[in-house]
Amino acid sequence: MENRINGIHHITAIAGDAKRNYDFYTKVLGLRFVKKTVNFDDPETYHFYYGDEYGTPGTILTFFPWGNVQPGESGPRQATAIGYSVAAGSLEFWQNRLQENNIKHEVIAERFGERYLTLLDPDGLKLELIENKNTDNRKGWQTNEINAENALKGFYNVTITTNKIGPTADVLTKIFGYSQQEADGNRYRYTTDAIETANAIDLVEIAETGGHVAGGSVHHVAFRVPNEEVLMEFRAKVVAAGLNITEKIDRNYFYSLYFREPGGVLFEIATDNPGFDVDEPVSELGMNLKLPAQYEQYRTQIEKVLPKIN
Ligand code: ZN
Repeated sequence: MENRINGIHHITAIAGDAKRNYDFYTKVLGLRFVKKTVNFDDPETYHFYYGDEYGTPGTILTFFPWGNVQPGESGPRQATAIGYSVAAGSLEFWQNRLQENNIKHEVIAERFGERYLTLLDPDGLKLELIENKNTDNRKGWQTNEINAENALKGFYNVTITTNKIGPTADVLTKIFGYSQQEADGNRYRYTTDAIETANAIDLVEIAETGGHVAGGSVHHVAFRVPNEEVLMEFRAKVVAAGLNITEKIDRNYFYSLYFREPGGVLFEIATDNPGFDVDEPVSELGMNLKLPAQYEQYRTQIEKVLPKIN
């Protein structure tokens, strides 16, 4: 059978203050900090990775904390919300927790027969906690304040807002192997049955223009393939569709390709291999600053300019 995309690999967003970002995602939301490294294109900036115990693809949210970055503005040609899967019945726990921590959130609502809770992270990035009606056996990371019943299991979906869904939908259906599953008003849900989790993309069509990507915005959405061989098969498919795509890039923890989908969002395709335990054991993920080989000789000066977070 032809290879298909295995859902979302990771999502990368832009933050302001590094410590505030770290505190929110590890303490309030209870994700595991799985990697502390630098932006490979800008080594005096951190690159943070949060996920489950192993940094399993489909659970990985990453940030470039750019210090005093200006806030972005949500609009078309952007990924505008990140959906996390949670167990049925856990939203009251989260509502109370967000309240106690003074986190901006809305009342619990319902969409496609599932309850969800919208909140904003400290930079204004929109997150949705969604009570998944499908079985999701993924084990979220537990902390002393968040037990297994309430833990975030990993991604449910990502929402892409655009002026015209057709061209983006074509990438999802004709290249990635997704199909339209549900629609409600201007929201169209595409899913793949190649994998059971992190397998939905919502396309929302709006007429408004404007908005820009900066602090609190999603930078790119990465889709998942098992290995480099399949990665290069998808490269050929993207090229055949007439889109520009990068060469294969080594990101230390995965191999990547990047292309801008016609709806304006930067897409990445990334491999499962080699994974986050390539440079430190699973038990120590996120504990030490990890640098790619080309920057190891500059470690002292890099550590001096990076802000302290823990
Ligand atoms: Zn990426």
